[in-house]
Amino acid sequence: IKTVMISIISLMVLVFTVDIVVILLSYLRRTHQIREFIEKETRQDNLTGTFNRKSGEEFLSTLFHQFQESGQSPLIMMLDLDNFKKTNDTYGHDVGDEVLRRTTQEILGRIRSADKLFRWGGEEFVLLFNGADKDYDSTLATKILTCVNRLQFKTDKGSFHTSVSIGSALFRTTDTSWHQALKRADMALYHSKGKGRNYYTNYDNDIELNPSLE
Ligand code: GH3
Ligand code: MG
Ligand code: MG
Repeated sequence: IKTVMISIISLMVLVFTVDIVVILLSYLRRTHQIREFIEKETRQDNLTGTFNRKSGEEFLSTLFHQFQESGQSPLIMMLDLDNFKKTNDTYGHDVGDEVLRRTTQEILGRIRSADKLFRWGGEEFVLLFNGADKDYDSTLATKILTCVNRLQFKTDKGSFHTSVSIGSALFRTTDTSWHQALKRADMALYHSKGKGRNYYTNYDNDIELNPSLE
């Protein structure tokens, strides 16, 4: 009878231990899932599914440090939807949201997985091309202008097309932070707006050679 008792107790201890281990494992898995979810939420823009500005700033900072060591700059592009206020005013905010979603999906479909798109503000985006070269840059910018402009939006108030303006710049050895390069990309974007929108300006090629434009 003593042996039977010992066997029963041992079995109970074993079952108890296994239960504890199973509970612990599922708890760990759950917290891991929650952590992953929170990480994704803090990196992603809710409306468009692109990366958000916070992760863009972190990424730019990393790229700038790499540039200081390797001398290799990514291409920094700023994109801004044209006359977007008018789109909202004419067709409503929901249609505006749809324009933002479809436009970003279209752009995401054209870039390589190493390239990253960030929503910088309302209708403004930053696109970072790692290890870009001049030909790829201008071909891609043209491709983006074309594919965005080709999208058609059908609403009960009629259908319409939209467009983006783009400006780009590179890091320079004289820069002390990524903010300066982004500022040049922004100036190039401003130049594109002045050219009538739906236009691409590369700071080094199109503004630097013509300082009067600054
Ligand atoms: P430009 O061609 O010079 O860029 O003119 P714009 O009208 O695009 O620029 P402006 O800065 O005057 O207007 C931007 C508009 O974008 C105003 C704002 O209401 C709208 N906007 C910002 N975020 C969102 C959003 O999440 N959804 C919608 N529908 N509209 C947004
Ligand atoms: Mg705009
Ligand atoms: Mg804007």
